[in-house]
Amino acid sequence: MYHDIEYRVDGPVASILHARPQARNAESSRLLDELDQALGEAVQDEAVRVIILGGQGDHFSAGHDLKEAQRERQDFTVEQRWDYEARRYFDYALRIWDCPKPTIARVQGACIAGGFMVANMCDLVVASDDAFFADPVTRTMSAAAVEVLIHPWVMGLRRAKEFLYTGERMSAADAHSIGMVNHVFARSELESETQKLAEKIAGTPPFALKLVKRSLNRTFDAQGFRTALNAHFDTHQLSHVSDEFVGMRREGLAGAIERGKA
Ligand code: ZN
Repeated sequence: MYHDIEYRVDGPVASILHARPQARNAESSRLLDELDQALGEAVQDEAVRVIILGGQGDHFSAGHDLKEAQRERQDFTVEQRWDYEARRYFDYALRIWDCPKPTIARVQGACIAGGFMVANMCDLVVASDDAFFADPVTRTMSAAAVEVLIHPWVMGLRRAKEFLYTGERMSAADAHSIGMVNHVFARSELESETQKLAEKIAGTPPFALKLVKRSLNRTFDAQGFRTALNAHFDTHQLSHVSDEFVGMRREGLAGAIERGKA
């Protein structure tokens, strides 16, 4: 039924996994559509109490599928890009944030840009000791970060600035020390420990849990969370038509990515 994700239910826990390990779990259009669909399926299934978001293979996700973007969306107008990114990047991400059931991102290896955005929409984030986080797109692609500026809310303002200004990787240990990651596990124990944590949460009365999640999320809303994210989405769209961005794209996305690694 699904091609680019794997959907599994083990007891009270649903797992939705990026399933393109050959492409470092790059998020294609289809993958994002399926992830959104699977999330809806997990919400509808009364047996599911907790949802894990993860990735098959060595990495959580290297981010949006830029090869697909170059192939299919290179000539998008402002209007087309707005529609595409509002639906697949912004709305889908916020649906994870607003999911009425508790969510856990389970991260190993790379968790980059679009992948970083998706993982941080989850209530909890757990990582293996080899995991790393990065959002290099300001530096490498001349875009104003990714579409959902979740960074300051989960990293603190000062760390978020350095993270975005330099594009550098943050290790699982550092992410844990600033409170962005709940737990770091050995790579070999990541799956079993995450399942254990999910099953523990699954023992909490679901309606009370749903209500406390609403209140916790509204604590951010009261601080301007949604207004700030919406404002950034507009600003991000502006960065897609800047001279800097257009110049980068003219030289080729692949080159920009390589320059970022250097
Ligand atoms: Zn964008």
